[in-house]
Amino acid sequence: MDSSKSLLVVSAHAADFVWRAGGAIALYAQRGYRVRILCLSYGEHGESERLWRQPGMTLDCVKTSRRAESERAAGILGAEIRFFDCGDYPLRPTDQTVHDMVAEFRDLQPACVLTHSFADPYNFDHPEAANLTLRTRVYAQAAGYPADGKKLGAPPVFLFEPHQPEQCDFKPQVLLDITPVFEVKRQAMESMEAQEHLWEYYTELARRRGTQAVRNSGRKEIKYAEAFQRVYPQVATELG
Ligand SMILES: [Zn+2]
Repeated sequence: MDSSKSLLVVSAHAADFVWRAGGAIALYAQRGYRVRILCLSYGEHGESERLWRQPGMTLDCVKTSRRAESERAAGILGAEIRFFDCGDYPLRPTDQTVHDMVAEFRDLQPACVLTHSFADPYNFDHPEAANLTLRTRVYAQAAGYPADGKKLGAPPVFLFEPHQPEQCDFKPQVLLDITPVFEVKRQAMESMEAQEHLWEYYTELARRRGTQAVRNSGRKEIKYAEAFQRVYPQVATELG
């Protein structure tokens, strides 16, 4: 248990962090890390199809519903969540969003950061979130940037797996064993009722990445995994 360590997750939409990093979040939360999710938008236009099919649906109702689902999922995973409501289709961070994110980095001093891939031809809000994350991380590192708090060190950044990885130039460089927390991830996925069609899809993906994790490590006890790509080089004192 190490409550002084933390993990920061930047999610473009209300559910992205659940499908793509729910295992990592649950794993670190169980290890005693403070896990904080910054959710930039509710995904009210692009990722709420099922809600919009209901007669009489309104924008406010979609946002309220997505927020409630997202809060429930974060709670199941053991994380805190902050919503920015930056809009959706397009996601438009303001100067205030940038400033607030720098403050988050400085306040949290995360041990590592998770966010989206830099390319996604199916949803341009995802690369927008990734760029914003990298940009505010760099600002938080600059002693001269006008924000409160201690300047940030150099937490590694990991990109989580997009829905169609080949189209997003995503390479699975790290396979994280999420077997001990997979049931928690599944429970969080099932709390996202607007996207029920993804529950099984992401269960199968975790199983497939688990099989690949066994192939790459020889650790036969691994059943489920999540894939990540590094942004910056790993710094080590030995190879392997
Ligand atoms: Zn999304």
